[in-house]
Amino acid sequence: MRALARSFAQMARTAEQPGRTVQVPKQPLAEPPLPIHTLGDRVLRTPAKRIGKVDDAVRELVRDMLRSMYTAKGIGLAAPQVGVHKQLLVIDLDPENPASPPLVLINPEIRSFGSGLDSYEEGCLSIPGVYLDVVRPSTVEVNYRDEMGRPRRLKADGLLGRCIQHEMDHLNGVLFVDRVTDELSLNSELQEHGFQRGDVQSIR
Ligand SMILES: [Zn+2]
Repeated sequence: MRALARSFAQMARTAEQPGRTVQVPKQPLAEPPLPIHTLGDRVLRTPAKRIGKVDDAVRELVRDMLRSMYTAKGIGLAAPQVGVHKQLLVIDLDPENPASPPLVLINPEIRSFGSGLDSYEEGCLSIPGVYLDVVRPSTVEVNYRDEMGRPRRLKADGLLGRCIQHEMDHLNGVLFVDRVTDELSLNSELQEHGFQRGDVQSIR
């Protein structure tokens, strides 16, 4: 997910912070170690598979995803966005703060949604430049494994809850534009940024 400067400062929350073993310097590199695929690329539509064992290879992938995310100035990145079909996502709502560790979710599963809905403007590193309102549950509870393979549970609202849902969609081959209901804004934003309406798979 792509940051909106005005929103993440006001809504950032730190809920649960796993170990720091996969942290990398939060500095942009000349180019991301893993190129990020964009709307229209079929790899974004392929569902991700569960990770059987959380080992050093997975942690190295996490580090490369974090480096790619920081380089692209994002606050969330899912493995399918870098062409890897594994149920893995990374989130950092405070990318300017070297002291706050990123959140790593492996094999995340939705446990429950809260009853409320929120509309909020989202962006995506795979659809650069496009920002549109999306309605989602305001609270979500997920089970997942952290980067050491430990089972975790997290209840999140605000920007974190939003970001988790956005990134988990990627694991199912769903993009935030698929959930946009304002057809006029969707068409004009896509056109303005050089994307094809036919690459959106609306779910309404
Ligand atoms: Zn995204």
